Amino acid sequence: KDFRNSVKPNWCPGCGDFSVQAAIQKACANVGLEPEELAVITGIGCSGRLSGYINSYGVHSIHGRALPMAQGVKMANQELTVIASGGDGDGYAIGMGHTIHSIRRNIDLTYVVMDNQIYGLTKGQTSPSSAHGFVTKTTPLGSIEKNVSPLELAITSGATFVAQSFSSDIKELTAIIEAAINHKGFAFVNVFSPCVTYNKVNTYDWFKENLVSLNDIEGYDNKDKKQALNTVVEHNGLVTGIIYHDTETPSYAEQLNGYSKSLAKESIEMDPSKFEALMAEFK
Ligand code: SF4
Repeated sequence: KDFRNSVKPNWCPGCGDFSVQAAIQKACANVGLEPEELAVITGIGCSGRLSGYINSYGVHSIHGRALPMAQGVKMANQELTVIASGGDGDGYAIGMGHTIHSIRRNIDLTYVVMDNQIYGLTKGQTSPSSAHGFVTKTTPLGSIEKNVSPLELAITSGATFVAQSFSSDIKELTAIIEAAINHKGFAFVNVFSPCVTYNKVNTYDWFKENLVSLNDIEGYDNKDKKQALNTVVEHNGLVTGIIYHDTETPSYAEQLNGYSKSLAKESIEMDPSKFEALMAEFK
């Protein structure tokens, strides 16, 4: 099972996205997937290139729309494992509505956000997850807006799996993505993935100094939603691990009680006269 292909990523040397790609490839191999059992759907941004770098089905879709496409792919062929991915601009600005509604819909797929707190592809503008006061060419006096809190957002939107990791910790990130793939429902994974070219504040060293692992919080129980939310707030969103995991709530397809059919598995044989009648309805 090799999820590598011959395409060389054109990310800047040192970009955190390399490790996210490696962790996804490793996690998919570890859970026993074959390349033809995986679809990777990405949005627009540096991170959006990921779908072209993995040996699987893939779509480099449009800005902020990776999730609608990923949900459609999953519902059309429920035997596929679907991973949607994008950056903080893609998922928390133009795609924010889709992020929230995908979370509460709970379709069985994994969403990996490569969060570098800046727009990298367009050369360094403030993003929704940039901190208050963050200086870029679009906010030369510092960002006036407060940053979004992806983990609080996910928990309060009804997510059944919420995790966060750091691209530098590839072992933890791989384990989290494996758990996300195995989760029966929508799995939300925010990954701090430094942009070494344009973000000179949230660097690898900065994250190493500021992140707190849930493993170091005594008695932490990721089944306890209230504790999950309180912990995220207390640490200003800078925690890593599986923050909340609800294994009870059924996925979207499970709630369809057998009415959920994979259209991709339906026979395309059709009586030509019925097809003509169908087409006539659209004329
Ligand atoms: Fe990575 Fe930033 Fe370079 Fe984009 S601009 S490839 S996010 S380091």
